[in-house]
Amino acid sequence: MKDLVAGIGHSKEYYACGDGWIQLIKRAKHIVRKYNLKHKRDTNFEPLEFVDIKEKFGYLNLYLNYYPKGMIKRMLRIEHASFDYCEICGTKKTTKMRELHHWYMNRCDKCYKEEIQKYNERFNVGSKES
Ligand SMILES: [Zn+2]
Repeated sequence: MKDLVAGIGHSKEYYACGDGWIQLIKRAKHIVRKYNLKHKRDTNFEPLEFVDIKEKFGYLNLYLNYYPKGMIKRMLRIEHASFDYCEICGTKKTTKMRELHHWYMNRCDKCYKEEIQKYNERFNVGSKES
């Protein structure tokens, strides 16, 4: 869990995913910040903000407090782009959707190997003792 300061106001936002997607999150936040700056003088303006940013089913999920016209498309475009980048290190090389014991994750070869190792250590897979 990390926190990012929102573009408008002083509310803090949190994201629950690897640092490999930080550029995508920054891009999404930039869109939201621009929207808020453009509309902040509108009557009954409510600042647009992220209510949740997380990894789900192996890809980036961005949730806003509400969706002005055209905003869903823009967020979906960024979510889909997360398929190209390793969630942990951000590389595009060898990155693809992997499955490890029913967990879906977008990983490059190196990060996936580390994930398997972590899993095996945690659950003592391959341990000589039983
Ligand atoms: Zn990686």
